[in-house]
Amino acid sequence: MKIRLALIPGDGIGPDIVKEAVRVLDKTADIYGHEFEYRTLLAGGCAIDRTGEPLPAETLECAKESDAVLLGAVGGPKWDNVPSSLRPEKALLGLRGGLGLFCNLRPAMLYDELAGACPLRSELVEGGLNVMVVRELTGGIYFGERGRDGDSAYDTMRYSKGEVERIARKAFEIAMKRNKKLTSVDKANILESSRLWRATVDEVAADYPEVAVNHLYVDNAAMQLVRNPKQFDVILTENMFGDILSDEASMITGSIGMLPSASLRSDSFGMYEPIHGSAPDIAGQNKANPLATILSAAMMLRYSFSLTKEADAIEKAVEDTLRQGWRTADIYTEGCRLCGTVEMGDAVISNIK
Ligand code: NAD
Repeated sequence: MKIRLALIPGDGIGPDIVKEAVRVLDKTADIYGHEFEYRTLLAGGCAIDRTGEPLPAETLECAKESDAVLLGAVGGPKWDNVPSSLRPEKALLGLRGGLGLFCNLRPAMLYDELAGACPLRSELVEGGLNVMVVRELTGGIYFGERGRDGDSAYDTMRYSKGEVERIARKAFEIAMKRNKKLTSVDKANILESSRLWRATVDEVAADYPEVAVNHLYVDNAAMQLVRNPKQFDVILTENMFGDILSDEASMITGSIGMLPSASLRSDSFGMYEPIHGSAPDIAGQNKANPLATILSAAMMLRYSFSLTKEADAIEKAVEDTLRQGWRTADIYTEGCRLCGTVEMGDAVISNIK
């Protein structure tokens, strides 16, 4: 398979970690007979420095022409004081909006080897944890009408049935490939938009009779995630609830440098990135953990190109690498093999079968 990839390394540790993910992709391509063609694009602070804007038109155009995007991270103290319309983070919103990415996938996985980093009691996560949060990304209160009215202010949460239906379908498709269990999270006891959400999810559920569905109010879902996280497989929710719950779910794993994400649209196109930021404190020092980005590349193979064997091989290589004791400083515990970004990349590459 020949695949055209747009690489957006961004700022801080972005270039360090994207480089390792590319080496892993190249090794995978060698073994499985694929060809990746890369185009490296500017976005974030580095784009502001070079072009005066966080998301140059050329970046968006080239991203649209590619088959998928792999992004590192954007932002850093250097650009903290630029006008808000020019902030590096605007590049992320511009990419998501410009590419029509409405579905955000955030897996929260706890590896046995890193169980000690989990802030919950060990019996709550015994046997590992693997939750997929499916968050609607382009609607809801973050995009609704907002304003000031005298000394009051308002934000509007609005969803159309079509918006709920398309994200629900994505979530059910994902549930079908996992454990066929889906929890839809809303606040239907209070919010009208949540009542539409719930009714629409039930309608879509009728097309997926094999998937067991339940509904939870968001306050209860937040509590259940720390009380009994293993009850969840796929969590489907709207934009703001998903923003909060996906952060909560990822904290349970205790390792921000380990978690990948995907933003998808209805076809196979997607943008893949680690959930962490640009970690300016350790940029360019061979200290960043590249695993979240490597796992994002694996998600890309799985969700954009249906290369399941290849994605499995990368994920298995990451597990083997952890089992062999390799640890960057952020996940290091006594007795393990402390390593840098490049050595971690080397270890994963040597484990790809
Ligand atoms: P951060 O995720 O960059 O860093 C938080 C802490 O985690 C730091 O101590 C950092 O060293 C550590 N860390 C993060 N990723 C790591 C990795 N892969 N390996 C080892 N350690 C890692 O969050 P922050 O400090 O709040 O933000 C720094 C910058 O990143 C800000 O400019 C922020 O706006 C930006 N940011 C960007 C994104 C994105 O591009 N998607 C997301 C969040 C924050």
